[in-house]
Amino acid sequence: MRKDTKFIHAGRDKKYTGKAVSPPVYHASTILHDSVAELNDATKNIPNNSMFYGRRGTITHFAFRDAMVELEGGYGALVYPSGLAAINAALMTFLNTGDHLLMVDTVYGPTRTLCDTVLSRMGIETTYYNPNVGAHISETIKDNTKVIFTESPGSVTMEIQDIPAISKVAHEHNIMVMIDNTYGNLVNFEPYAHGVDLSVQAATKYIVGHSDAMLGTITCTEKYWKKLFHQSYAMGYTAGPDDIDRAMRGIRTLKTRIKQHEESALKIARWLKKHELVDLVLHPAFADCPGHEIWKRDFNGSNGLFSFTLKEGHNEAMTAMMDSFKLFKMGYSWGGFESLAMSFYDLKKERDLNLWDNYGPLVRLHVGLEDADDLITDLEQGLTHYKNAL
Ligand SMILES: *Cc1c(COP(=O)(O)O)cnc(C)c1O
Repeated sequence: MRKDTKFIHAGRDKKYTGKAVSPPVYHASTILHDSVAELNDATKNIPNNSMFYGRRGTITHFAFRDAMVELEGGYGALVYPSGLAAINAALMTFLNTGDHLLMVDTVYGPTRTLCDTVLSRMGIETTYYNPNVGAHISETIKDNTKVIFTESPGSVTMEIQDIPAISKVAHEHNIMVMIDNTYGNLVNFEPYAHGVDLSVQAATKYIVGHSDAMLGTITCTEKYWKKLFHQSYAMGYTAGPDDIDRAMRGIRTLKTRIKQHEESALKIARWLKKHELVDLVLHPAFADCPGHEIWKRDFNGSNGLFSFTLKEGHNEAMTAMMDSFKLFKMGYSWGGFESLAMSFYDLKKERDLNLWDNYGPLVRLHVGLEDADDLITDLEQGLTHYKNAL
């Protein structure tokens, strides 16, 4: 089966769907067992897909988890109440007090906060490494390094990491490699073809795709599956069936949506690149984006997310532009059908390493499914407001 077909059929086993096209949304805490034998059987089957108690998951969860493994790979999949909860579960499961974590410096901001507060309080030390490090990651490894956490492209600044090179070095040192694969969704990057051991996603973004649910997922290889499963259950992680249903529905159109997001974002990025006020367009499909060659080698295309910087400016000009946008709405998150713009004026605060000189005015766009020319018109009038406020 080709991947496009899998998106339509994943998780739709008859044992879940019955006569319907999609699995039912099963609301349950208590699961009733008809006999002691059946109860014992359900207990024995953990972590297999039999209903035992709501927190263990219902048919809705099992179908979605199967779909995640079919589409992302790995051996098993679990759901979490948010992407950040999934990141927390992954790190908490595989790190102990006294361990060392290598975290990419361009990581999603709240993941950094998690490391610098909760993990640090528990005696887990974090070192932030350069996203462009590749095989030189070996120079930052310590005797007690247990996990290398990657995120590619980097948050906001879009650097592409050499995941195969990092994984090779990590495995030579018996270190586990995790990725925040939210950008990669289930279309753009295949973590298990590039040496990753565990992949986290904020399904909140492209998988749900409609900005109306919070959901995290983890898939991992067989080596790590049992530990992840039992520890996640011990920590009480689950997610509601309605949110999972939204993710399952999102999967059916994911490939089609990503294609359109990609096409429109590229059109807009090329237009921005020619604009007199624009300095850099940070899009991995462009040759000047750090790691562009690796992106060409490892990724199946791009999507609607990228950033650009402006040549000169100040907060007032940025505010004038942001307030003038009509189609690009202001708000955190991305991956929905709608276009979003966020401005970042002081990215330096969120980084340990001084990787580049240009920390000037930066805008991150999520290009939605509106007509790309309408979005260009909106950007054009926004940039005029910017210029007039300079
Ligand atoms: C949004 C996001 C998260 C967190 O997901 P939530 O569901 O909002 O908790 C993690 N990583 C990346 C890259 C994200 O964009």
